[in-house]
Amino acid sequence: MKRPNIPDSVIRRLPVYLRHLEQLLFRNVRTISSALLAEELDTNAAQIRKDLSYFGDFGRKGIGYDVRYLSAKIRDILNLNEPLPVALVGAGRLGIALCHYNKNVRNNVKIVAVFDSDKEKWGSDAGGNPVLSDSLLQSTVADLNVKAAIITVPREVAQQVADTLVNAGVLAILNFAPIPLRVPDNVRVRNTDFTSELQSLAFYTASEMRFDMLDYP
Ligand code: NAD
Repeated sequence: MKRPNIPDSVIRRLPVYLRHLEQLLFRNVRTISSALLAEELDTNAAQIRKDLSYFGDFGRKGIGYDVRYLSAKIRDILNLNEPLPVALVGAGRLGIALCHYNKNVRNNVKIVAVFDSDKEKWGSDAGGNPVLSDSLLQSTVADLNVKAAIITVPREVAQQVADTLVNAGVLAILNFAPIPLRVPDNVRVRNTDFTSELQSLAFYTASEMRFDMLDYP
């Protein structure tokens, strides 16, 4: 069956709903209205209802959402009930920090193989996995049936690494290198850009006087 055509913005909000629903479950909250869920998530109820309506009718009039049922459904929609093995390429400062963080996260998304081109790093610990030679990237990723990967290599080599990952069968890439990656249409890339996020935040730190001087329309 073909993947349904659902806006990526909706898919990106589902984990935010899921995290909150799991916190509610932890607090033994059984049902929640879309209005209250929206208030707690600082969004609006219509948005939540519209997002969920892509997948079915989960709310009950006058009662709201069953928290356990909805969180199970969202896990299922996101394909989180199956383990998601992830490869990481680039065991440098950022890559190693992500590996250590992921080791302690209790969910199905696990870094299972770590690669680097620096032979000094081969065999060293990366959050419970040994760092492997980048020459093993394609074969290991294919053998382990890994479909998702993280790129934390310098920008100059990021495209080449992405090409190798795609050739090995990877379908989803979280890219930390500050360069747009070219991939086939069936592969999804998410870019995380710490520097431009901070640069855009600079806009909100300017004093109002500055905007008066700039004379925007
Ligand atoms: P780093 O130099 O500490 O680590 C990069 C690692 O990649 C090194 O271990 C290097 O040996 C390895 N490497 C180089 N070529 C390789 C290849 N072909 N195959 C496998 N491994 C290879 O760098 P860092 O500070 O960890 O940053 C990594 C990347 O993340 C850079 O592109 C940087 O610009 C980016 N970055 C992004 C953010 C963000 O928020 N997006 C934040 C910091 C850094």
